[in-house]
Amino acid sequence: MPVWNALYQVRNFTANIEDVRAQDASGNSAPVFKSKTSEWQITAPAGCVVVSYDIHLDSSGPFGSMLSADHGFLNWAMVLMYSPALRSQPLSIRLLDAPTVWEMRDLRILGAAAPGKIDQTAGIAHSYDELVDSPVELGTFQQSSFQQDGATYHIVVDGNPADYNMNQLDEILAKITHAAVDWMQDRPYDEYTFLYHFPHGPGGGGMEHAYGTAIEVNVDRMRRDLLPVASVSAHEFFHLWNVKRIRPQSLEPIDYQHEMDTRALWFCEGFTSTVGDMLLARSGLFTDNEYLRRVSEEITDLQRRPAREWQSVEESSLEAWFEGMAFYRSPQRSISYYNKGEIVGILLDLRIRQLTNDTKSLRDLFHWMNDHYAKQHRYFPDSAGVEEAAEAVTGQSFAAFFRDYVAGTKDLPYDTLFQYAGLHVVVNTTQFATAGFSTTANIGAQPEVVQVDPNSEAQKLGILPGDRVITVNGRPADAALDDELSRLQPGTTVRLEVANRRGKREVELRLGSGQLESYELQDLATVTPEQRRHRTAWIHGDDESGSAH
Ligand SMILES: [Zn+2]
Repeated sequence: MPVWNALYQVRNFTANIEDVRAQDASGNSAPVFKSKTSEWQITAPAGCVVVSYDIHLDSSGPFGSMLSADHGFLNWAMVLMYSPALRSQPLSIRLLDAPTVWEMRDLRILGAAAPGKIDQTAGIAHSYDELVDSPVELGTFQQSSFQQDGATYHIVVDGNPADYNMNQLDEILAKITHAAVDWMQDRPYDEYTFLYHFPHGPGGGGMEHAYGTAIEVNVDRMRRDLLPVASVSAHEFFHLWNVKRIRPQSLEPIDYQHEMDTRALWFCEGFTSTVGDMLLARSGLFTDNEYLRRVSEEITDLQRRPAREWQSVEESSLEAWFEGMAFYRSPQRSISYYNKGEIVGILLDLRIRQLTNDTKSLRDLFHWMNDHYAKQHRYFPDSAGVEEAAEAVTGQSFAAFFRDYVAGTKDLPYDTLFQYAGLHVVVNTTQFATAGFSTTANIGAQPEVVQVDPNSEAQKLGILPGDRVITVNGRPADAALDDELSRLQPGTTVRLEVANRRGKREVELRLGSGQLESYELQDLATVTPEQRRHRTAWIHGDDESGSAH
């Protein structure tokens, strides 16, 4: 049984399994010996062995597996054991006894089944790896689809139809998929499926797969508009290239039994965010100013983390496996390879453009990696492979760039590179509301207090490290809690429901005030027409060859 899948976190799925039994080909029970924490040995005569077990599935969200009275979502690596010797053999799968009103849809193996037809559907995967890349949604859900550039896109939503507008969702996704296929000049699939969960209550995140994605967005986050959905959808969609097909050697072959040491997540995740946001700008879902504000927020996030001075973005990739631990996520312990990786992606794009006077860009780097690795069915050698691609595209050395900003912790050269687009970074010190404590949250989970300021209101109210914040003013708290509180007026009173091992209680907390630094990209005192041209090329790619628009 795998110990991890989807999230780069060891989650020991065996803990959910009970009563493992086996029968040999003649129906006699075969001895089962539990040989390791996630391994069983079965002794039986040569031939067929039937293994059965019960499993408890109650973790919701795209990284989980859930089977309840009203819906099911299965990530197969959390559900099905594998035989190491047979892992690359084809396997068939069949679901039985589903409620008759349920429908089913997965990303590739089982396809789709209408109500009452699930029992008759059997899918065949080429390998266990392929199967576990195709989670299945079961229940009653809303569906839509559209055709574009010769491909079919399916949309499946488990949510309340009153919480979102399917036509609007269709429209947004069509813009993203078109912009991405155009940018990559490639479409390595005929069908692609977007699976959404729109829950009330905590939750969030997305998981990429080769032929689709599973995404969860809390309905409170999409009340105003669908931009939060668009943003995670663009990121997950671009993953179909970056990480699913343009794949680092360090993640292959997949070791389901141990954490895998990889220094490449700054590229796999960070650059996926770089391109995801760029696709939103190119498809008109972001204005230029919204795009620049988004980049400014990323810079602010990084600059506010003291750990940027001692943890490189490669080390942050390597330590991804600690992200389930509250203290690890605190600003003094770690940076995020999503966050710094995204900024490094932007700076690398600008550096390539600067060296080639906009004739080459990050897009050419991805085309090169797609041609040299993905299409040749080869894996790239982590950071060295990205460096090689940057050098191949420009004909210039990127040794110093990778040494200082990828392997090293040197301050990022914002002003040197943004000036190419007529911009510089301005630091503003502003008064912010302070809660007197800070929290971190594991993906989709409730925030946990990691630190309390001495002599703060929070300390006087008895808030302690380890407390979980359940609601804020009656609404479920999530990973954005600290940000949300800092945006309120100092002096505001908020109602928090807090839980710890002594129980749950409600506190009324008066927010204090403090100073925080914000980083903002602004125009240089004079922006030359040339710099304006560079900026338009960078954000919109108007000058790129092979573009359909
Ligand atoms: Zn991702």
